[in-house]
Amino acid sequence: MEGENTKSKQLYEQAKKIISGGVSSPVRAIQPYPFYTESAQGSRIKDVDGNEYIDFCMGYGPNLLGHAHPEIKQAIAEQLDNGWLYGTPLENEVKLAEKVTDAYPSMDMLRFVSSGSEATMSAIRTARGYTGKNKILKIEGGFHGTHDSVLVKAGSGATTLGKPNSKGVPEEVTKHTLQAPFNDIESMTELIEKNRDDMAAVIMEPVMGNIGPILPKENYLKEVRKVTEENDVVLIFDEVITGFRLAMGGAQEYYNVTPDMTTLGKIVGGGMPVGVFGGKREIMDMVAPNGNVYQAGTFSGNPATLSAGIATMDVLENENVHDTLNKKGDEIRSCLSDIISDAGLDYEVSGISSMFKVFFGKAPTNYQETLKCDKSGYFDFFKRMLNDGIFLPPSQFETNFLSYAHSDSDIQKLLNAYESNLKQS
Ligand code: PMP
Repeated sequence: MEGENTKSKQLYEQAKKIISGGVSSPVRAIQPYPFYTESAQGSRIKDVDGNEYIDFCMGYGPNLLGHAHPEIKQAIAEQLDNGWLYGTPLENEVKLAEKVTDAYPSMDMLRFVSSGSEATMSAIRTARGYTGKNKILKIEGGFHGTHDSVLVKAGSGATTLGKPNSKGVPEEVTKHTLQAPFNDIESMTELIEKNRDDMAAVIMEPVMGNIGPILPKENYLKEVRKVTEENDVVLIFDEVITGFRLAMGGAQEYYNVTPDMTTLGKIVGGGMPVGVFGGKREIMDMVAPNGNVYQAGTFSGNPATLSAGIATMDVLENENVHDTLNKKGDEIRSCLSDIISDAGLDYEVSGISSMFKVFFGKAPTNYQETLKCDKSGYFDFFKRMLNDGIFLPPSQFETNFLSYAHSDSDIQKLLNAYESNLKQS
């Protein structure tokens, strides 16, 4: 919480001198200074000044089971006893790959990498290698990480900071990236048909999580599947956020739509750095050493990550995590809607499963509508919530995440804080 001489403030002053922007990822640069974390357990995160918050950011999604889950912790600890980087294959790689391909029948084969960005970069390269074509189509406001070809009208921090297009990315690269609005099958169809001869892939978040959550309209994903199939365009579902969240099999299971390729991250590594890309056998066979699409990584298939991932999958298989969270998510969204209407505000709630957000404006259906929401009003609200001990992602465009560690009393506190702080908006 803000104060004149907090340790967080001092650390940020120091950091700004030696770390660009003071942070390792831009949305963390909360002004006037971010809180510096000392520890986190279950649903709580504690800062270096002794303040404790109920955390609905959850590391921006990976901590589906909460912070420091005992089974994940034990799995990592056991791995540490045996060393944590080999540069060789290991049994747990095969074990986790089996669990992931079982949950995602669309993935005959996969590859482990170290981040969601690496996963989407590699998936796009593989799709281009497979089709021999150059162009990709992404959705406006979709966020697929920080490599050159997807930093066009990108969501997440890029939109929060008003920098959806990045300097330093050559036009020669982005000219191959086309954009269509979410939930608009006509625009997508037109672009695909017009560029059919050179269109390698459509990459999209099936539920938009980086300017949202924004849900697909009924049948939209099925129509996307149809038009990509008819035009021999590889359909990549970027399920870095939705994977293992909406259901064990992600949004593709939830909406019953089968992509050609999938990217995963976040939850599949149990909170350790991770990415996965995979898909149809004939596509994944293009990747080196089998094929000529090059992809590699010193930390890919990292032993500690694999252990954390397997422990996470075990909990998801053995406990009723998704049903529980999806129900609680429904309750939260319905209570928030009531709070908004009781307060007579012109706001709307959006979300699905364990993702929820109050939009300071109408719940958007695409990027252009998102930009109409009251970004700075939201930021003031975020700060009031923080003062009341609730940590939400600091942007109108980042979704809030409920975890399995949140108790009913945590949720009640959240709703009480929404009620009192929305009234002041
Ligand atoms: N794709 C999506 C849908 C994401 O939400 C993110 C990160 N929030 C990424 C890709 C990039 O993942 P990472 O930050 O692990 O590189």
